[in-house]
Amino acid sequence: MKIRTVKDIELTGKKCLVRVDFNVPLKDGVVTDDTRIRAALPTLQYILGQKDTTLILMSHLGRPKGEVKKEFSLQQVKPKLEELLGKKVTMAPDCVGPEVKAVISSSAPGDVILLENLRFHSEETKNVSSFAEELATNGDVFINDAFGTAHRAHASTEGITHFLPSAGGFLIEKEVRFFEPLLSNPEKPFVAIVGGAKVSSKIGVLESLLNRSTTLIIAGGMAYTFLKVQGYTIGKSLFESDFVETAKEVLKKAEERGVEILLPVDHIGAEEFSADADAVIVESTDIPDNLMGMDIGPKTVTLFKNVIKKAKSLVWNGPMGVFEFETFSKGTIAIAESVAECSGTTVVGGGDSVAAVNKFGFADKIDHVSTGGGASLEYLEGKTLPGIAALEEK
Ligand code: AMP
Repeated sequence: MKIRTVKDIELTGKKCLVRVDFNVPLKDGVVTDDTRIRAALPTLQYILGQKDTTLILMSHLGRPKGEVKKEFSLQQVKPKLEELLGKKVTMAPDCVGPEVKAVISSSAPGDVILLENLRFHSEETKNVSSFAEELATNGDVFINDAFGTAHRAHASTEGITHFLPSAGGFLIEKEVRFFEPLLSNPEKPFVAIVGGAKVSSKIGVLESLLNRSTTLIIAGGMAYTFLKVQGYTIGKSLFESDFVETAKEVLKKAEERGVEILLPVDHIGAEEFSADADAVIVESTDIPDNLMGMDIGPKTVTLFKNVIKKAKSLVWNGPMGVFEFETFSKGTIAIAESVAECSGTTVVGGGDSVAAVNKFGFADKIDHVSTGGGASLEYLEGKTLPGIAALEEK
């Protein structure tokens, strides 16, 4: 799939309505992490660099559930945006309606207007067509740069594309450029690493990767259900009895399709789930009754590293262990380091593995660190992302 990008549409003299993801964390009304605002800057600066353009930005913030709530006002984001853009930003009192029209019609080329939280209107998440049409009257062209909400058909992501010439910003363009080949024609060997807490939340991804990968590494809390199915003892580790059949099915399909499955062969265990718990090295695949698996062990790290090293393409979703607790973060750090060193094309998608590569300082050495948790998971599952499909070049 190829999408139209901001470079493919005429912007001169246009009011450019851009859907950004300014859903940033706040404390006492101040932005505490501006990563998402920074991520949007290349697209915003490109648009402002075109002749006589006006920038009209729209986003959601938190979950106000269709009600106007001060604590979710984008007014709080405005100072940080002004600082990063190096430009004055005009705050509109809403995202639709006559007052917004007045602000926009009194603007001049080069101006930046920030519309108020889209989710103050319940029609946004319900993708009500008349609301999308009203939003569309705020601009001449629509540019979507909010990958984090691209998996949802909302008025500002999908609905609006029925009413305006539309294209993707640089953020969305990069996500598509890295995810598409993994789904359509990944360079082999294609190594997929799936970790995280539960089998239940990763079934779709596992199924999809079974159709495409050369080697599928399964680790984190979800690995223990697989190990138990294979007849190993797992002590007090996470176990999802409802997913025993699913795990069996995954193993069977892998064998039928010639996909290599790698599971942990040793562990770092603990007697209790706590940051202060003592780390115990479990040298075998079997875990004794008094322990729970909290991280992968050193033999497993070596096993995984040897495969990661040879990957021509690689995707990683989900940590190897309870990386939030320092004692149990070593496996995730070692794998992050190994992914960073891999000379193939590397993609990290999914909330917690992204948090891990950022936290441990490897993000710069990875080809693509996705900006969308749920969206990247659905992309990897092979699902259609409505916000992206709407930008497809036909
Ligand atoms: P997910 O959102 O499904 O990718 O899961 C991420 C969560 O999985 C993190 O909060 C980790 O602490 C957790 N996790 C990873 N390994 C384990 C484990 N062995 N036992 C319990 N939780 C784990």
